[in-house]
Amino acid sequence: MVANGIDADVLVVGLGPVGAALTALLAQRGVTVIAIDKDAEVYPLPRAVHFDHEIMRLFQQLGVAEQVRQHARDLPPYEFRAADGQLLMTLPPPRETSSGWGAGYMFHQPSLDGVLRDLVAGLPGADARLGVKLERFTQDADSVTAELIGPGGAETIRTRYIVGCDGAWSPVRETIGGGLFDYQFDEPWLVVDVKVSADCRLPDVNIQVCDPARPTTCVLSGPGRHRWEFMLLPGETPEAMLDTAVVQDLIRPWDCGPVEVERVAVYRFHGLVANRWRDGRALIAGDAAHQTPPFAGQGMCAGLRDAANLAWKLAAVLDGAAGESLLDTYQVEREPHVRSAIALAIGMGRVVCLLDPEAAARRDAGMLAAKANGTTPLPPLQPPVFAAGCVLAGAPAAGAMFPQPTSGEGANRQRLDDHLGHDAWLVSRRLVEPVAGVRTLSLDAEALEPFRAALEDWCDKLGVEAVLIRPDRYVFGAGDPAALLTAWTQNLSPLRQAA
Ligand SMILES: Cc1cc2nc3c(=O)[nH]c(=O)nc-3n(C[C@H](O)[C@H](O)[C@H](O)COP(=O)(O)OP(=O)(O)OC[C@H]3O[C@@H](n4cnc5c(N)ncnc54)[C@H](O)[C@@H]3O)c2cc1C
Repeated sequence: MVANGIDADVLVVGLGPVGAALTALLAQRGVTVIAIDKDAEVYPLPRAVHFDHEIMRLFQQLGVAEQVRQHARDLPPYEFRAADGQLLMTLPPPRETSSGWGAGYMFHQPSLDGVLRDLVAGLPGADARLGVKLERFTQDADSVTAELIGPGGAETIRTRYIVGCDGAWSPVRETIGGGLFDYQFDEPWLVVDVKVSADCRLPDVNIQVCDPARPTTCVLSGPGRHRWEFMLLPGETPEAMLDTAVVQDLIRPWDCGPVEVERVAVYRFHGLVANRWRDGRALIAGDAAHQTPPFAGQGMCAGLRDAANLAWKLAAVLDGAAGESLLDTYQVEREPHVRSAIALAIGMGRVVCLLDPEAAARRDAGMLAAKANGTTPLPPLQPPVFAAGCVLAGAPAAGAMFPQPTSGEGANRQRLDDHLGHDAWLVSRRLVEPVAGVRTLSLDAEALEPFRAALEDWCDKLGVEAVLIRPDRYVFGAGDPAALLTAWTQNLSPLRQAA
């Protein structure tokens, strides 16, 4: 028990990827967490197959990048093809990223979920309870009281905060209230996951087949695995499509050699955003807060960005370094990027899901014309940049992800974040006095030696003396070091109080 009848600082409901990552990020910062999941095992069926480079940087921060890497393959090009196979558009993975990792990865979600749960199980401060369900909760000015039911029976616990990472049907979201914004995109698709052998003839790129007779996706999953997604046509029922013979008929034209079907499932792809992500001491993250069609491979990525954004803010509020108003910046910062990811995915979906042959022919002609002009009708998702929130508005680079310089190759590769820890950092041309919660380093600090040239280059390009980087690796602001530290302290301190 923490103190005053409080069992832990935070109750995290749901140990999917978002809840597990949030729990680990909080525990790494000394926050005590009780994390529950109603299911004893990780969700066994793959859902996400792609995550981007920023998410690999987060796994690095969690200390599991190399383990995750074992269940992932490098992102290949993403091709949109017409029914006759003609190439309409290619989205090649960018050769360079600012995060210090490859552009993205195709992976096996149950394996990732297992890595994250093992991480949580080994962290002092994190009390993971599996097979335990949240029944209901209430809150008052000081705490949250939650009623749980598990193998040992019913239990009531008190925590300072509750975070619902409890998925699409989130009971925490329902208690917070506020409703959902619905993008009115609602398409049923059959998902078929297969294991493949080394001599399998499936494409080594991700493909959208824009065939009005049956829009189809074919993408890589983790090593030795592949996925198809087939759009259901009007009149087709999920039950009929799950039939083994129907599935075999759908995959036969791919002539890929023998594959082992691991599972089939029908999902409805839709776009939803909760209107309210926080009510006092209750917050939501991940699918509980937003859902997207999977065409841009961003649902879990968005949830993990939520976890990274929320963890350091909760930790700062809980130890009295920041006022509760810092938690209001969470939705302010995250929602615009969530909405741009959903808009892109729906845009892709509307391109792909055309069933009218004439409309599809017009689409194909438009995409071919764009290709001939060297333009793309679906520009890739831009990284988040916070226009408002906990940033020094107007300062150079404020709200953008700080790039992670690397040094060396292969097993000797070093990455900046590994040298600087979990606090905020101020990197400056000259040494300045630290303030609580901010690690200050001058550019000639020994820890920065492998990255000095890249950091100097970054400061030179912006013409700044210093940069203050938040714990989630986003830039608070760049400019004069003393002014940055003063603004940081002022930004965190309004209404400062011990939670
Ligand atoms: C077909 C498909 C393809 C996708 N492809 C991608 C992709 O390529 N890239 C990508 O980034 N995303 C993708 N996604 C989305 C991604 O899978 C989800 O966004 C992600 O799994 C959500 O994680 P989460 O932790 O928020 O929720 P979940 O993984 O759903 O976890 C919620 C957890 O909460 C628990 N829970 C619920 N209620 C309670 C309760 N009352 N008490 C205790 N525990 C509770 C559940 O048991 C569950 O374990 C895809 C989704 C689908 C369906």
